[in-house]
Amino acid sequence: QLQAEIIDGKSLAQKIRKSLSHEIDTLKTASPSFHPRVAIVQVGGREDSNVYVRMKQKAAQEIGVGFVHCHFPETVSEEELLQSVQGLNDDPSIHGILVQLPLPKGLNERLVSESIVPEKDVDGFNEVNMGRLSKNTAKPIHSACTPKGVMELLQYYNIPIAGRHAVVLGRSDIVGNPVSYLLRKANATVTVCHSYTQDLPKYVGEADIVVAALGKPEFVRGEWLKPGATVIDVGINSVQDGARRKLVGDVHFESAKKVAGFITPVPGSVGPMTVAMLMSNIVDAAKLAYAKSRAI
Ligand code: NDP
Repeated sequence: QLQAEIIDGKSLAQKIRKSLSHEIDTLKTASPSFHPRVAIVQVGGREDSNVYVRMKQKAAQEIGVGFVHCHFPETVSEEELLQSVQGLNDDPSIHGILVQLPLPKGLNERLVSESIVPEKDVDGFNEVNMGRLSKNTAKPIHSACTPKGVMELLQYYNIPIAGRHAVVLGRSDIVGNPVSYLLRKANATVTVCHSYTQDLPKYVGEADIVVAALGKPEFVRGEWLKPGATVIDVGINSVQDGARRKLVGDVHFESAKKVAGFITPVPGSVGPMTVAMLMSNIVDAAKLAYAKSRAI
């Protein structure tokens, strides 16, 4: 029986992180003042946010990127938060700024995220970077990390994109929208599905590449897929499994791997690539700032 080839994002992510670490070492040796540093702004103590912050901190420290954690209590005012971002914008020793979302109710996420200067917006979420990503004739300073990771996986596994039909499930600003822009820039014919789409299985059945970013556990069934299709499962959903909880994607892996040509497992493929792409954006931001400081 046919079994899909597993797309191993975990080991590709490790390779990328190793190569970034090497690049930083080389740059530090050549220019001792080169010190990439990222700051993360976190409000409150949501357990999932703590996990993500720790993960980013570990990844940064492993490759030699400095990490500053600006942790505020839930009671912080919007004004204080905006001032903190402004301070980080103005600080030449900080190259990337992350705001850990979601922010507690009452704080305007859009306002706070948009206050990061585009050069330091290493998540690639702000309107300048996202707007440029959506234009044919513009290039963002930083592209959103998960979408960038999806493209890297497709390229690394030599999966043809140009002229193929890519169906993106989800249109959020952090995954679905930017993935669809990148696929279109890579010359795929792109269909974007969302909660108003009628007959989702029909669209999935026409796809050479399916990118699932719905946030619905095991929603996409193998029976929907065109045989040989590439399945990139972005979803991360925590579900009950007997007495324990486990993580599953938006695709039903067991049925999908019998039909797909390539498939990403959850966890361990798109997730690690997202972190690797974030590190890559931070290093790019530091190189950019360094080049600018030398040019003055
Ligand atoms: P959102 O909830 O912001 O967006 C979900 C999208 O799916 C929306 O566009 C929504 O449509 C669409 N949708 C929901 N239900 C259906 C349905 N039944 N049929 C068709 N479309 C539907 O989620 P995110 O984009 O933020 O995240 C998606 C998933 O990816 C989550 O599981 C998240 O945890 C995961 N994720 C993983 C990352 C990684 O590093 N691997 C990074 C970021 C997210 P509409 O617009 O109409 O509401």
